[in-house]
Amino acid sequence: MKEKLDSIVFKTLEKMQNVKTTEALNEIRVSVLGKKGELKEVMKGMKDVAPEDRPKVGQMVNEARDRIESKLAEMRQRLDQEKMERQMEGEKIDVTLPARKADIGHRHPNTIALEEMERIFIGMGYEVVEGPEIEWDEYNFTKLNIPPNHPAKDEQDTFYINKDIVLRTQTSPVQARRMEQGKLPIRMISPGRVFRADEVDATHSPSFHQVEGLVVDKNITFADLKGTLEQFAREIFGPDTKTKFRPHHFPFTEPSAEMDVSCFKCGGKGCRFCKGEGWIEILGCGMVHPHVLEMCGIDPEEYTGFAFGVGLERIALLKYEIDDMRLLYENDIRFLKQF
Ligand SMILES: [Zn+2]
Repeated sequence: MKEKLDSIVFKTLEKMQNVKTTEALNEIRVSVLGKKGELKEVMKGMKDVAPEDRPKVGQMVNEARDRIESKLAEMRQRLDQEKMERQMEGEKIDVTLPARKADIGHRHPNTIALEEMERIFIGMGYEVVEGPEIEWDEYNFTKLNIPPNHPAKDEQDTFYINKDIVLRTQTSPVQARRMEQGKLPIRMISPGRVFRADEVDATHSPSFHQVEGLVVDKNITFADLKGTLEQFAREIFGPDTKTKFRPHHFPFTEPSAEMDVSCFKCGGKGCRFCKGEGWIEILGCGMVHPHVLEMCGIDPEEYTGFAFGVGLERIALLKYEIDDMRLLYENDIRFLKQF
């Protein structure tokens, strides 16, 4: 009996050793421990065993079953482990694969143009100053030498909140605010959104952006203005860009001028882009009016300055050859992605 049990245990352990799947392991368990299993067959032979030997034989059968069951448990654990490892191997993440790109939009041509302008002027020692878009009438007009009866104050051009407060029509009030602080010298640009009661068309919008510049120091002359703006034009439109100053009138400055740049498409020969002129109008500028300095608490006998203002959209439209301003406000990603 003992030999028979030992041989069952030995054969079973050996078979289990090479098992590859839990299903095969289960088959072995049924064939040995099941209702019609080999061990049950042995138990059936108990009736032939002498009564005094039965407990001993019973114990031997139990021992045999324990050995087989503990091996079964061990094998089951090993197979589970292997199965998990195979699964992990299959699901392994290849960290060297390029990541899927998230669609995060695109920088707006206005933003690109503004950053380019800021880079140029910061490089020349300017600070970037911002101010409120809703502004006192006094800062938007009066302190900039625009008297109450001036046509620029016309309600057809300006959005009035009430009689004292407007949506700023220019970023110049930021300059007045900065001058009033009394910290001299000043080298600043003030970019920002401005508002005018214009109808929307290819070149106009009720809301657009300006970048204005102001320098106030001792011995600032028109030559400083010209040199600065020529340098700006060359940096933004290319090193061969030429500039031309035409006399103009602004209430804020005296003398005043408009600056043209040579067409960067045809080099000045005349083309469709510059409407055959060879020149493109870019910005307004001038020497700060002594009365403006005075109103902001700066002595015009001691200090002089120059100022300029450029439409940010104008730079973006020219630089990226966009022929309709409305495209800048539609924010169609297919359009924006081109820049
Ligand atoms: Zn041209």
